[in-house]
Amino acid sequence: MKYNVLCPYCHGKQAVAHPGDYTPIYAECASCGKRFVLEPERHGVAVYKVEDAPCCSDPDCLATELAASEND
Ligand SMILES: [Zn+2]
Repeated sequence: MKYNVLCPYCHGKQAVAHPGDYTPIYAECASCGKRFVLEPERHGVAVYKVEDAPCCSDPDCLATELAASEND
């Protein structure tokens, strides 16, 4: 699955490969080199700056939450 998105930092067009589910992933912009979040949605795809991504759309934050819930 490939998504064509605009980098949230420099607005350069990016084609980002994604496994095909709704998991948010990090993508690296080929134009400016910054990392951003790409999250597929039911009707398209959302991109976030890493500092603007809500926790549910941030791969690192999700991983932290999953690790924390395993300790319950
Ligand atoms: Zn960029």
